[in-house]
Amino acid sequence: EASLVDPLTQLRNRRFVLERMPGLLAQVRRQRQDSGRDLVLGLMLVDADRFKQINDRYGHETGDRVLCRIAQALHEAVRAGDEAVRWGGEEFLVVLPGVARSDLMAIADRIRTGIEASSGGPGQPARVTASVGAAGWPLASDGGERHDWQVALSLADFALYRAKDAGRNRCALLELALVDLAAWPDRPDAAYLQGMVEARRVGLRIEPDPQP
Ligand code: GH3
Ligand code: MG
Ligand code: MG
Repeated sequence: EASLVDPLTQLRNRRFVLERMPGLLAQVRRQRQDSGRDLVLGLMLVDADRFKQINDRYGHETGDRVLCRIAQALHEAVRAGDEAVRWGGEEFLVVLPGVARSDLMAIADRIRTGIEASSGGPGQPARVTASVGAAGWPLASDGGERHDWQVALSLADFALYRAKDAGRNRCALLELALVDLAAWPDRPDAAYLQGMVEARRVGLRIEPDPQP
């Protein structure tokens, strides 16, 4: 059990998710079949914004406490059956089996808001925000499985960096606008994805500036 838990935040760790993934994918397949709806495995990469500055300004111990607060906010933002995981450093992965594809952005923004609200109160020195990159597996609403969940994760990662580029403290969702999956390599890299975003068929949605 200890090998599956992150000692700092007490969240599950990367190994836990990798071990559970086959079961989660099977669960989503079943949920899609039973419901006839476009349910997905939601994958949300959550990365603390300018976290290095927090360490530099307040010290590493405060940085650690802020990470624990983020973990707590993630835990509170998800339902039973979802998993909030410390993916590494100041990056977290939230895995949501069986959410509606059309709800992904709203969920991502709820997570973002939860983190923003969790910090900077009285007696808490460090205000922290996070950016969220989201994607859903299977990639296409027809449920075709040409691409495995790691491709969805790489879309989430790419979306995360678009959210950072767009100014941080926001969410981005990268989704395929159906068809043309045949043109996709199995492991698209960022440069390739960039081309797809620029070129066609991938819809990138970036939330407008959150209210200050
Ligand atoms: P960005 O908004 O682009 O994500 O900026 P950033 O500063 O968050 O990103 P960067 O990757 O430059 O720095 C990440 C920082 O997170 C540096 C690293 O020391 C800190 N960090 C990673 N893990 C821990 C940890 O366990 N505890 C503390 N206190 N800091 C950590
Ligand atoms: Mg960061
Ligand atoms: Mg990071």
